[in-house]
Amino acid sequence: MNCIESTDAMVGGDLVPESRSVSPAVGLIGDLGEAVGPDQVLTEPDLKAGYVRDWTGRWIGNAAAVVRPGSVEEVQRVVRICQEAGAPLVPQGGNTGLVGGSIPHRGEVLVSLRRLDRLGPVDHGTRSVIAGAGVTLGRLQAHAREEDLAYAVDLASRDSATVAGTIATNAGGAYVVSRGDTRRQVLGLEVVLADGSLVSSLETLPKVSTGPDVIQTMIGSEGTLGVITSARLRLSTPSESELMVVLVGMDTLTDGLRLMGPGLRAIEFFDRACLEAVIEHRGLARPIPGDFLFYVLVETTGNLALDESSSAVVDRSLWVYRESITETINGLGVPLKLDVAVPLDRIDGFAAVVRALDTSGEVFLYGHLAEGNFHVNVVGSPDPDRASEEILGLVVSMGGAIASEHGIGVAKTDRWRRTTDPGSIELARRVKEALDPNRILNPGVFWG
Ligand SMILES: Cc1cc2nc3c(=O)[nH]c(=O)nc-3n(C[C@H](O)[C@H](O)[C@H](O)COP(=O)(O)OP(=O)(O)OC[C@H]3O[C@@H](n4cnc5c(N)ncnc54)[C@H](O)[C@@H]3O)c2cc1C
Repeated sequence: MNCIESTDAMVGGDLVPESRSVSPAVGLIGDLGEAVGPDQVLTEPDLKAGYVRDWTGRWIGNAAAVVRPGSVEEVQRVVRICQEAGAPLVPQGGNTGLVGGSIPHRGEVLVSLRRLDRLGPVDHGTRSVIAGAGVTLGRLQAHAREEDLAYAVDLASRDSATVAGTIATNAGGAYVVSRGDTRRQVLGLEVVLADGSLVSSLETLPKVSTGPDVIQTMIGSEGTLGVITSARLRLSTPSESELMVVLVGMDTLTDGLRLMGPGLRAIEFFDRACLEAVIEHRGLARPIPGDFLFYVLVETTGNLALDESSSAVVDRSLWVYRESITETINGLGVPLKLDVAVPLDRIDGFAAVVRALDTSGEVFLYGHLAEGNFHVNVVGSPDPDRASEEILGLVVSMGGAIASEHGIGVAKTDRWRRTTDPGSIELARRVKEALDPNRILNPGVFWG
């Protein structure tokens, strides 16, 4: 997969050099300005810069304009204008996605949903809350906490990642093992479709059986089927009271799986390379004595039957070692980031083979252990495309999944089409054709 550095703009469906795109774009940009107010349409390169570069720096694109609607009606107007002009658009939330899906790679219109940040009152009856697309996870969690409740999905990117972005990627995070992924939290959605029409299931009851819930197709659709403007989300009871956080050193991940038991909330792992890098980058103390291939972090309300000889520490602040990894690796250089999963009986085999691959870069392994999830990061590889192909090929050969929680984006479109069951690809194609026949919604994702 190539890093895409585009200086072109796509206007009216044609790819044209930016220098020649001025006049056709003028009508489009003028119309967008009328729809949302000229101040909310950014066309200057320095104003667009933060929106067209991804969090890792691996993907840098170009947008015809960055548009920032402030209401659902404005989103509808923007989508209609783009549809009529045949101008593709890319929805964006916090821009923390790691597969290049939130970046306009070919001069699309970038539609930022961050201004849709209304957060409704907590409904204690249904234990739910309606949140605008642009509300950050951190704000949503704080809002729930004020009412003695919790929002189950949590990511280290919580202060930037948005409600709609996490729904569009079906984000996972540390608490999937106990609370489920984002899909499990979504009770209703409000979405602007490619023709500008609005569909909503926000006012649904907690349990209904009224036919297919087609709007749920939006979960995990990465901005290719509609623009999510709002969601009703399930809240849960926090279990902070007798919480225990333990870090254990070990030489196989399979040993780590034995720490799963009643009361488990999260079980994460990282390898020695991650720990050493975090200690250096953050200036932290070594958390446990000894030197191990892997470190497993467990959050539980139950009792952990730890072997007397195991090196373990009990301390809530241990999360800092796990949560600093992504940022630390980014500081070492532009990483190749792959988020994959393999069957649990193959986790150690996978880790050993990945390490032995000739990537000529430094390999870091960490992830969510209970799901066999690996974030494979390679820094300094002279040929990241080849490394990516080899690692994804290994995942497929082991019966794993090429995307565990970050999605397909533009990084894995090719592999997705080559390795997914043909019937499922055909179904996805028909859904795309039905909902977005002119392919204006995030056209680079899935379909390339
Ligand atoms: C430090 C760090 C830690 C992370 N940890 C995790 C983790 O543990 N688990 C995990 O799953 N992910 C993790 N991520 C990845 C990322 O945070 C998630 O993918 C998150 O869900 C992206 O949310 P966002 O608002 O930033 O979306 P963006 O990056 O803006 O967009 C992501 C995708 O969603 C689409 N999208 C955004 N908004 C809308 C909308 N309103 N309507 C339709 N489509 C939309 C975009 O087009 C794009 O395809 C991490 C990232 C970082 C930087």
